[in-house]
Amino acid sequence: MSTLSCNEILDSLAAYTDGQVSLDERVEIKSHILQCEACSKAYTQQNEMKKAMVRLRVKTSKPNPPARILHEARRAWNIQDGSVLKRYKVQFALASAVASISVFGGAWAYLERNQDFPTAQVITNFRTAMNNGVSCDYYTQNADTAAKWISKKLNTRVPPVELSLSGGKLIGANVNYLQHLKVGSLVFKTNSGNVILYIAYDHTKFNDMLHVTEDGNDFMEPQHEPGLQFYGWNSHRIGYALLSQQSSNQECALDAERQTLLP
Ligand SMILES: [Zn+2]
Repeated sequence: MSTLSCNEILDSLAAYTDGQVSLDERVEIKSHILQCEACSKAYTQQNEMKKAMVRLRVKTSKPNPPARILHEARRAWNIQDGSVLKRYKVQFALASAVASISVFGGAWAYLERNQDFPTAQVITNFRTAMNNGVSCDYYTQNADTAAKWISKKLNTRVPPVELSLSGGKLIGANVNYLQHLKVGSLVFKTNSGNVILYIAYDHTKFNDMLHVTEDGNDFMEPQHEPGLQFYGWNSHRIGYALLSQQSSNQECALDAERQTLLP
């Protein structure tokens, strides 16, 4: 056994993993780890953490960085480095960060992003529909029937939405896979063109958007989307976005929001 205690080894692990110890220390820590199960386990964890951090840096170069997890991981790493706090706290923070990053493999990124409303995909889908002409998987003018159809496909309860008060007429419904995510949509015809209401279950976060208030109702809008109007909101774990080509359809958004906010 080395002359260093387990506590001293644990305090030096972060520096050791980073290659920031002297050659003597390195030899001593290495031989201790080879013989001590507890420290060996901590070392493995430390290594996993480091690998996970590297993977995080790669992944977060993409849009929608999972900021919270990255923050947690950095925090755990820094705490370990500082070894200021009590060890059990360090171990806990490290273990939970590793659990959320390593154990689930790549799934954490998906889970984290899972909460975001698929704004970009919805906008692309809308633009395509406007350019190629709208079509529906399921044609119906009945809001209840359409809601039941979408509810079944999305495996949740979607309320019926009709835009008769704001001058819209239901044409039908769609369920599309937008980047592996099932998104329902209701297509309406109005005097100022087609309007599509997108419905994403469990995707209620509108990140990096402008918060706007129309007639006392709150909506989220992307920073700048030329040629289209986007009204986003959420209710009962469902994210909604009403897209139209003209701003005159804010009445439709108010109308739709009112119906989705009902209990
Ligand atoms: Zn030990």
